[in-house]
Amino acid sequence: MTAKRILRIIAGVLVLAIFCVYTYARSYVSPKTRDLGPAGGTFDFQGWQAPAAPLDPLLERLGIHIPPPEQLLRSEDAETSVQPTAAPTAQPEKTPEETAPAETGEESGEQPAPAEETPEPTLDPNSPAARAAALGLPAPPEIDVNSWEFMLANGDHSIGEYAPEQLAYLNQTADEMDIQYGFNPNRCPVDSRIAQPLLDFARGCRDAGLPVYLSSGYRDYGTQAANFTRICQNNGVTDGKDSNGHYITMPAGCSEHQTALCCDITDRYYEIKNSSIEQTETFQWLVEHCWEYGFIHRFPSGKEDVTGVMYEPWHFRYVGNEAAEYITRNGLVLEEFLALYGVE
Ligand SMILES: [Zn+2]
Repeated sequence: MTAKRILRIIAGVLVLAIFCVYTYARSYVSPKTRDLGPAGGTFDFQGWQAPAAPLDPLLERLGIHIPPPEQLLRSEDAETSVQPTAAPTAQPEKTPEETAPAETGEESGEQPAPAEETPEPTLDPNSPAARAAALGLPAPPEIDVNSWEFMLANGDHSIGEYAPEQLAYLNQTADEMDIQYGFNPNRCPVDSRIAQPLLDFARGCRDAGLPVYLSSGYRDYGTQAANFTRICQNNGVTDGKDSNGHYITMPAGCSEHQTALCCDITDRYYEIKNSSIEQTETFQWLVEHCWEYGFIHRFPSGKEDVTGVMYEPWHFRYVGNEAAEYITRNGLVLEEFLALYGVE
């Protein structure tokens, strides 16, 4: 019985001790006791700030962030950056210049994102590129359409009695590589400016193992006039056209041969100029490779209504490398090409 009483006393002392410790600890953190003025004045509730919460270190360790009251109050203004230390009234009202979007971004250093993509520059509808685009063609090369390579002679464009300044005379079978400038009736005359490209073209065909013959180059106005009369008489016509309305011979001043920028090229052993020439390997090589030398197949089949001239698989015309490549790749004739540059 004595031992039990002793235990009760000890238990009672422990409870009393715990109570005392609890009371002391509570009074230590209580604002009522800590912040009371020394003279027992009133507690300053407005000036009082909560002590650092004992839970802060624990919350920090757990990665839990409780925003300060200022942020909670402003959270509805989600699009503006939170500036807890600045009262809303402390910010000066922005002037119209400041609120207007910066045009250059020089002052702010921020370039405002464009509202729309920059529109592509609109083409001048009268530009060659716009005319080509309207036809579904790629942009044509930048050329001087008034340059000599683009001289146009056809039923609608007479060049009158034009004659080239300088002729050159080529060996007709391309056996000889020299270019002569003195008259030679046994050679093929062309404008001296296309002599080298034409010789290269013919040599290219020869080097492919094919017979080549420069059948006809420059013809002057008088010669063309005589040809026109003779061919018309032979075919019983007066306008130089076949029954389809396509020229079989051109009036003087309208023949491309008078420009001296073209040449009739045939198989050396196959000089009769009719459509069967297309079956020769020589023609097939010439029509495939002409653009590599600055030449085009001038009067192709299917374009007679555009050129006004019957199909002539033997007639090749120099226009320069850029134009020849564009014309050939896009299946055009010279009239269609020049129309891109406004030549009607
Ligand atoms: Zn011809």
